[in-house]
Amino acid sequence: MGEGKILVVGGGISGVTAAVEAAEMEYDVILVEKEPYLGGRVNQLRYYFPKLCPPTCGLEINYRRIKENPRIEFYTMATVKNIEGSPGNYKVTVEIAPRYVNENCTCCGECEKVCQGEREDTFNFGLGKTKAIYLPHEHAFPARYVLDKAALAEGDLERILEACKYNAIEPDMQPQTLTFEVGAIIWATGWKPYDATKLTNLKYGQPGFENVITNMQ
Ligand code: SF4
Ligand code: SF4
Repeated sequence: MGEGKILVVGGGISGVTAAVEAAEMEYDVILVEKEPYLGGRVNQLRYYFPKLCPPTCGLEINYRRIKENPRIEFYTMATVKNIEGSPGNYKVTVEIAPRYVNENCTCCGECEKVCQGEREDTFNFGLGKTKAIYLPHEHAFPARYVLDKAALAEGDLERILEACKYNAIEPDMQPQTLTFEVGAIIWATGWKPYDATKLTNLKYGQPGFENVITNMQ
C-alpha cells in the first residue's frame, strides 16, 4: 500500500515546489520528469516577472532542498505509462528512457569536444545545434550529459568512449520499467507557450520583424 506516499508527475517549477513542500511535511515523494533535467520551462526564461530575477536562482534553492531531503526520490527521462487504483491506493507504472550516460559523469565536456554528430538544440527552441552528446543546458539538474544515439556521426561512439575517462558512457543502457504504489498523485505537467503570432499588431514571426522575440526566446 502506498498510503502516505505521493507521486508528482512533472518536474517543472510547480512539480518541484509540490515535491519539496510535501516532503518537508514528512511525506515520501516520488518525482518524475520526462526531460533529462528538472526545472521545466522556467529554465528557459530569461527573467522572472515581476522582480526580473534570473530563474536559476529560485530553481537552485529548490534543487538544494531536493538534495538535502532523503524523502524525495526523483527520476528524469521518466514517463507515466499506466495508472491503476483509486485515491489512497494507486499503482503507477513509469518508464525510464536510457540516457546512455551514468552517474559517473563529471560534466568535464571532453566527449562533446570530440563528437562530430549534431542534433537540434530543443532547449533553445531549435535556434541552434548541440553535439549528439550534450548537457541540456548550463544549469541542468542533475548535472549530467545525455547521449542522443541517433545523432551520432560515423566513428563518434568510439571517439566519445575514448574521450571519457570516467566510464560514464553506457551505449547499451536499456529502458527501465518501474512500478510505484502511492496514495496520491499530483499532476503538474506544465503549460505550452502562447502563440505570439496571434498578436498581429506586434508582427512576431513576420518577415522583417526577426528582432521581435518572446520572453521564452
Ligand atoms: S534571492 Fe534570487 S529570487 Fe530572490 S530576489 Fe534575489 S535573485 Fe531574485
Ligand atoms: S560523459 Fe564522460 S567525457 Fe562526457 S562530460 Fe561526462 S564525464 Fe566528461
